[in-house]
Amino acid sequence: MDNISSTTSSFRDRGLEAALDALGEAGFPQAEILALGPHVGTPGEQELDRLRGILEAHSVRARTMHAPGRRSTLAAVDVSWRRQSVEVLTGYIRLAGALGLTELVIHPMSDTDLAPYADDPGLPQQMREAVQRSLDDLMPVIEESAVRITLENLPYPGLPLTSMKELRALVDPYPAEAVGLVIDIGHVARLNLDPVDEIHTAGKRLYGTHIHDVDVNAGGADHHSPTIGNLDWDAMRQAFAEIGYTGPWTSEATTPSHGESPEELAREVKDWMTSWLR
Ligand SMILES: [Zn+2]
Repeated sequence: MDNISSTTSSFRDRGLEAALDALGEAGFPQAEILALGPHVGTPGEQELDRLRGILEAHSVRARTMHAPGRRSTLAAVDVSWRRQSVEVLTGYIRLAGALGLTELVIHPMSDTDLAPYADDPGLPQQMREAVQRSLDDLMPVIEESAVRITLENLPYPGLPLTSMKELRALVDPYPAEAVGLVIDIGHVARLNLDPVDEIHTAGKRLYGTHIHDVDVNAGGADHHSPTIGNLDWDAMRQAFAEIGYTGPWTSEATTPSHGESPEELAREVKDWMTSWLR
């Protein structure tokens, strides 16, 4: 049960210290730090010192970090965009490594930045090649930083690289201690894929989870509490056991379904996780 965790993103109305306090009060022993303001600033020596100070003084353990999504992404299909992305991601990999975190979650693509290329039939292959080149470029810094990066499945219908089958093929050529996968259950549900199949496909390369549900009453929106229960969480628990998953159980439920405060939502999800994992 001590392997449960939560994103700090539900507490972006306050600084990192207060966000960790709130997660601790809800009963989470670990956190996934969202690398966006106000929780994390631009990577560098000064920011590293600031974060170290906060984390060393806090009982909630920083387990993982979520790199900012959007523009800085692996599937950057033109040369200068990719060079820029690799440079930005290098900063977050170094930061996560220096803080002793186990994983840095990275979005392999950005739907808005890829929109101008959407009509190009060669896009899927260009994206796969861009991811591969980015990973090749990042490998030395990943190894030097001793942190694993995990690629997340995203909920973009019609774009490639959203299924575990495609992502697994991209990570398989790289060492497991350097590159893995994180499964986002709400994103799987939004694409109407079967979570059990996706967990099995990620298999031994799975090192992280984003736990949240879709709310059919809110138009199928994701990032709701799993207490909503639109998904078969028991079947998923079984699938995680079958692949021998030992990574963190990380809540990414950040949207209230019935007017809960962020504190109430965090407590509700923590209690649900405790009984789900029993
Ligand atoms: Zn996620």
